[in-house]
Amino acid sequence: MDTDTYIIQCANCKTRNRIPKSRVKDGPICGKCRRKLPPPSVVQRPVMVTDRSFQEDVLSYPGVVLLDCWAAWCGPCHMLAPTIDQLAREFSGHVKVAKLNIDQNPMTAARYHVLSVPTLLFFKNGKVIHTLAGAYGKPEIERQLRAML
Ligand SMILES: [Zn+2]
Repeated sequence: MDTDTYIIQCANCKTRNRIPKSRVKDGPICGKCRRKLPPPSVVQRPVMVTDRSFQEDVLSYPGVVLLDCWAAWCGPCHMLAPTIDQLAREFSGHVKVAKLNIDQNPMTAARYHVLSVPTLLFFKNGKVIHTLAGAYGKPEIERQLRAML
């Protein structure tokens, strides 16, 4: 996998364009229909997922989603948060990084048997492929993401 490029989907013809990160500032255009591509910055931060948006944000997403299940009272969750933010930037265009507050969204937490936090769920095309329960380091999370791409 090449993390020096973004995959940007054209809003007009839905073609997935591979754009080098160094060229994103130039205002890249779609290779097929020549329309201007949307900026990839929208996918550089974790998406906050709720019970209500879970179906659309995670299950219907055609690709890899890293879901960080966390809680406000959980110390290790706060320690993990900067790592999750970094991964969102580094894997932008390749992995959708999302966060779920388990206290505010108990239905989704129960559905995936999230018994402790932090728990990381790795989805591919809407199915859980892997789970990491506990505050794992960045290398372990990265290794799993690369294995899924
Ligand atoms: Zn296009």
